Amino acid sequence: MRLGRGIGLAAVLVVALFVAAPSASAAGLLTQTVSAASAVNKSCTTGARDGAGVAQKRVTMPAAGWVTARLTATSGDWDVAILDAATKRVVAGSAYRGSNEVASGLAIQGSDLIVQACRLTGSTSTASLSVQALPVDTSHVQKTSLVRVATANLARKNELNRLGLDLTEHGGPGFVEAVLYGPADAAKLVDNNFSYTTEVPDLAVQAAGDRRADKQFAAANASSEFPSGRTSYRRLFDYSEDMKRLAREHPDLVRPVALNNETYEGRPVEGIEIATNPNARDGRPVFLQMGVHHAREWPSSEHAMEWAYELILGYRRGDARVRDLVSKTRTIVVPVVNPDGFNASREAGEMFGNGSGHETDVDGNGEVDDPEFLLAAATHPNEYRRKNCRFPGDPPMGNCAGVDAGAAGHGVDPNRNYGAFWGGGGSSGDFYTQTYRGPEPFSEPESRNIRELVSARQVTTLITNHTFSGLVLRPPGIAAQGTTVDEPIYKALGDSMAAENGYSSQYGYQLYDTDGTTEDWSYNATGGLGFTYEIGHLGFHPPFEATVKEWNGTTDYATGGGNRAAYYKAQGNTADASKHSVLTGRAPAGAILRLTKTFDMPTSQEGLTFTDHLNSTIQVPSSGIFEWHVNPSTRPLVAKGSGRPATGEPSEPQEFEPRGETTPCANYDTPPPDCYEDHLITVPSGAGIDNGKATFRIEFSPLSDYDMKVFKADSAGNATGDAVTTSGHGATDGELGYEEASIVDPAGSYVVRVQNYAGLDPWTGTVTFEGPGTYTAPLEETWTLSCETPEGVTRSARQVFVARGERRSIDLRGDCRVRR
Ligand SMILES: [Zn+2]
Repeated sequence: MRLGRGIGLAAVLVVALFVAAPSASAAGLLTQTVSAASAVNKSCTTGARDGAGVAQKRVTMPAAGWVTARLTATSGDWDVAILDAATKRVVAGSAYRGSNEVASGLAIQGSDLIVQACRLTGSTSTASLSVQALPVDTSHVQKTSLVRVATANLARKNELNRLGLDLTEHGGPGFVEAVLYGPADAAKLVDNNFSYTTEVPDLAVQAAGDRRADKQFAAANASSEFPSGRTSYRRLFDYSEDMKRLAREHPDLVRPVALNNETYEGRPVEGIEIATNPNARDGRPVFLQMGVHHAREWPSSEHAMEWAYELILGYRRGDARVRDLVSKTRTIVVPVVNPDGFNASREAGEMFGNGSGHETDVDGNGEVDDPEFLLAAATHPNEYRRKNCRFPGDPPMGNCAGVDAGAAGHGVDPNRNYGAFWGGGGSSGDFYTQTYRGPEPFSEPESRNIRELVSARQVTTLITNHTFSGLVLRPPGIAAQGTTVDEPIYKALGDSMAAENGYSSQYGYQLYDTDGTTEDWSYNATGGLGFTYEIGHLGFHPPFEATVKEWNGTTDYATGGGNRAAYYKAQGNTADASKHSVLTGRAPAGAILRLTKTFDMPTSQEGLTFTDHLNSTIQVPSSGIFEWHVNPSTRPLVAKGSGRPATGEPSEPQEFEPRGETTPCANYDTPPPDCYEDHLITVPSGAGIDNGKATFRIEFSPLSDYDMKVFKADSAGNATGDAVTTSGHGATDGELGYEEASIVDPAGSYVVRVQNYAGLDPWTGTVTFEGPGTYTAPLEETWTLSCETPEGVTRSARQVFVARGERRSIDLRGDCRVRR
């Protein structure tokens, strides 16, 4: 066991106890029924309103911290805002379409706040309003830093991933970047042989500079090159305001979409659907555009939202390409999948843009004296929140507004909670790590919302936007899964989009193994092509201007028209029937056609599966001729099959032992020659032998620590190239220390390098061989196509096979009658 590992464990426990402590007590500032005699359809969140349609209350902040207003009314559209009476600043807002509002933001001690409840539409003249304050300890400022960790190969990247640190999606040949929350995180790297360099020593200082730049950009530019012209990052209520306005002003193109599940903090999750004739139940193919699974990735929701503007305003302008796409497809935009986490992150970041210039020592007396800056710095870890706002306990012991929320803190990573391959090595089972996958597949409202949306529609293409690293990712998320059955068209589209934004088009696993991600599920369950975009290179939410450049392709590396042009490619793919399937034919006008499929899906955990039920409908138009753009009837996982038939038996195990003594290695990545031994292993081959997997393992007493690397051997029997797999975590299993790593379909000879990290006594080594595993032949699946009356009576059901790129004609007139 490594010296220092025990200390590291103790530090982790202390952190866990700290974050598990109950939040500082919340103070109820107001609970009452408010009334507005008339409805006035005017924004509530742009400033103080006067006159009709609004009820205003005053509260004073008892301490610096979070203030949350909740409003409910029985019907109509009510919104709510909290305003600073002195500065006129919008402290918090909530502008959902209905009358269930949650507005949460930050204010300093003594702030005189106006809480205004606005009745926009509807006949209900009263609403219940409550306001709560949650203090933040501004003397507790934890410094966070961004570091670049050296990772020689994919195996080392995956080892780093397993340490539970806050890895960014920013990695490349030889490195991954990580956010460190104090000395315990740094010690984890050192204890596990990782060297790193510090990129940003204090992220709070960087954040203050970025938000200053944002203020300057907004002041200097009346509009940006975004289609909406926006000059600053939206806050959560801005998304609601924008979607509501687009639906109101363009009812012939925009339909509001409400997702099924409210979040932990009681927020609705909203989207819009864009198409000519948006309310028809026709069979056009669906493009789904999403942002902010991860709270801090603000540009991801900006680009998703701007795509809606691009289509709607382009259509209005008469742009021929937009008109063609908007008439051939349906586009659903869900800009903020994780609104609780986003609000916590965005409002903490917003605080850096306020105060008296947010310098740390304005009057030069040697003390930090700007209360706004102090509050911003204290809540800065919130700004770096990644996960959702799931807290333990019933009722929950806290919420995302707690000061402990910044380091990994509470919450589930919604992009590790999707069901397919859930629970493997590319996620964590530890509540306090950044990639915590949740207690079970689809345990979270955020992932359930997208699952239920995708299961009820024929989404043939989707993009889930993230930041950052300049990547267009496609499945598989785990290297061992091999390429997908749709690799040629998948790669072609990924490459073509990357040719616009200048990102790298690659497999998900090339960053590091991930599982339970959006397209792990959506692609494997539906066959719709899904991509993860990692927008930009400058951080999770760089200065706003950089996010505009990613949009219009004016970055140094964009090789075409940026994400705007890349999204056109995705939308074009959605419209292209050769990339999905089409069911067409005749059926009684007005009949409801329903496609269903029920199947079990695998997780990464043995014996654990879950059941998916896809269920989508269209209504046959008055012509009696339907055309339904759908996904192929056979799921990609089944179409591909798995494993391969065995051609023989696996070989007997081989053993290898130390030849002498070594000295501890001073450097893990480039060890001096006297600190390791190389052992040559040749994989048996020939008639009757089939070694589908080789597992290399060394064992030693828990007092010792050795590391293991496996290389291909050259013809002279020497290690060549980068290690094909490594194991350097010093794991123990009861009375035994060990390192273990496997290779699928091993061939030829390998060099096993045993490195002395802290070897006090000898080790033993074995290589064991296994067959290729269970072979499953490729299968074909069908959709169940039923014809129903508008009242829901099923008249017929038949099994329909349709391949990708195929157009299948079906006559349903004989077996489907609708009373007219
Ligand atoms: Zn992300």
